[in-house]
Amino acid sequence: MVTDESSIGAGIGAAQEVLGRVFGYDDFRGDQREIVEHVIAGGDALVLMPTGGGKSLCYQVPSLVRPGVGVVISPLIALMQDQVDALSALGVRAGFLNSSQFPDERRTVEAQFVAGELDLLYLAPERLRSEATVRLLERGKVSLFAIDEAHCVSQWGHDFRPDYLALSVLHERWPDVPRIALTATATEKTRDEIIHRLDLGGARRFVSSFDRPNIQYRIEPKNRADRQLLDFIRAEHAGDAGIVYCLSRNSVEKTAAFLTENGVTAVPYHAGLDNRTRATNQSRFLREDGLVVVATIAFGMGIDKPDVRFVAHLDLPKSVEGYYQETGRAGRDGLPSTAWMVYGLNDVVQQRKMIESSEGDAAHRRQLQLHLDAMLALCETVSCRRGQLLAYFGQPDGTSCGNCDTCLTPPESWDGTVAAQKMLSAVLRLERERGQRFGAGHIVDILLGKSNPKVLQHAHHELKVFGVGTDLRDVEWRGVTRQLLAQGLLAVHGDYGVLTLTEASDEVLFQGRQVWLRREPERVPAKSARAAKQAKTVVDMAPGDVPLFEKLREWRSATAKEQAMPAYIVFNDATLREIAARKPGSLAELGTVNGVGENKLAKYGEGVLEILAQA
Ligand code: ADP
Ligand code: ZN
Repeated sequence: MVTDESSIGAGIGAAQEVLGRVFGYDDFRGDQREIVEHVIAGGDALVLMPTGGGKSLCYQVPSLVRPGVGVVISPLIALMQDQVDALSALGVRAGFLNSSQFPDERRTVEAQFVAGELDLLYLAPERLRSEATVRLLERGKVSLFAIDEAHCVSQWGHDFRPDYLALSVLHERWPDVPRIALTATATEKTRDEIIHRLDLGGARRFVSSFDRPNIQYRIEPKNRADRQLLDFIRAEHAGDAGIVYCLSRNSVEKTAAFLTENGVTAVPYHAGLDNRTRATNQSRFLREDGLVVVATIAFGMGIDKPDVRFVAHLDLPKSVEGYYQETGRAGRDGLPSTAWMVYGLNDVVQQRKMIESSEGDAAHRRQLQLHLDAMLALCETVSCRRGQLLAYFGQPDGTSCGNCDTCLTPPESWDGTVAAQKMLSAVLRLERERGQRFGAGHIVDILLGKSNPKVLQHAHHELKVFGVGTDLRDVEWRGVTRQLLAQGLLAVHGDYGVLTLTEASDEVLFQGRQVWLRREPERVPAKSARAAKQAKTVVDMAPGDVPLFEKLREWRSATAKEQAMPAYIVFNDATLREIAARKPGSLAELGTVNGVGENKLAKYGEGVLEILAQA
């Protein structure tokens, strides 16, 4: 790739001008400046940035600076209209081509493209399979190709889209047009696959820090998940927008109904719903303030609603990658947000069972097992969760973040060797002496010395271990079992989730291996002062400014409704907060607020000043 060095200086000046005038931002963030500069000069780029890091600007600004139309490949057809609306609100000329359009709409956009009347064109990847689209692109001038959600090219990832494989055509047909591939998926394996499959060997790589300082990570023991969720929302996120993830369609439906009955408006989202309902629920989530969506992992990719204040997991995700992507949908606007999860013994049992019965060969199952083990290690850690997450993505940090549950309330570890020996020897006696296998519940009953019908039926009250565990409570034994499973000192098998020993169990039983366990704190305090400080883009809101902020939010809702677009497209929360704090008295002053560009100032400026005048 030849880069035109002489245009770099001019390029970055023009980029800075566009950033302020069109987007209303003072400065680029993180790697944005370097990326934009590189692409404007005609270089290829691979951009790895966490969700909320600001990937869109990396191709939007160069598209506005370079001559021609920026072509954005995106798999998210359902969101293209919103993306185009958001750009139009900024005064950027944008259009899209996908299968959801009527032919005449499509022809209009095609004509605009050829005439050079667009700045950005969004395209579904499958379009490029048709020679007609390729010829269309050849009739206009393309300034750059942006390949969004580039990890969709990875065959082993969970978002694989076969159409992405066809994107190698871009480089073949347009060798001189710069390409920028972007993703929030961070592992090295995915990165290498993107480079290989999209022929990006010569591209410059930009790898940002994957830390999301404004997200508070918390993982708590699961008792009654729906009740815990409700308490959490009421205590910390009443009236906020949030996403709740559940494993099954059934629990999605139940949880959404439970929340709604209890005064938290929630809608379900899963693959079993018909297309209309799904689209309606997604669109309500994007448009209304403070709606909760309860969903399977089918929901979320590409949802760039910036003010999602919490992401809750009621079931254990299958991998740290999944957990990180899902939680990353909180707080794109940089304001404090919570990633909250409950997790219990049944999660481990269920996930291990799913792996055992999964299709695919032994190597595949081994892979799933490794993913789950990493996830369990994150759940059971006694050190900083954020540190552990970053280390997983190859960015070890080493310090304590001060904004996760283990930092806020350090859990104690305790010497669980004797407890582990009791549990394991109960399993051993059943297995080796009697050839029997039982699930965790029954074994805990034996340890607690409960003479219930099942115990009596099998004469388990005659076992030597009967009643040796009365020093711990039922929930504590379940915690011990869960941690032994997580540490691989115990295994679970079959449909009934029976417990069996592992090779490592012998080390505990017979070779004096010590076992350290995590004692869960009773309650985790909600917010910390450091949390707010760490969220860099937060404009601290004085309590006195809250009523004004609420007024501005009402104005925004009404305005968005009138124009039939999501509220955040008018202005996002961060911008409204800054307005409430600074109370600008003139259009010129309002124009200096972050997020207020030329077009929005012209469109909404008077309206905002009126609200301020009334206050
Ligand atoms: P990503 O696609 O990486 O998840 P987005 O492009 O959606 O992130 O950006 C996340 C949020 O950050 C958006 O609300 C966007 O307006 C804001 N943002 C991005 N870059 C900047 C910047 N340089 N200054 C201020 N806000 C920014
Ligand atoms: Zn921490």
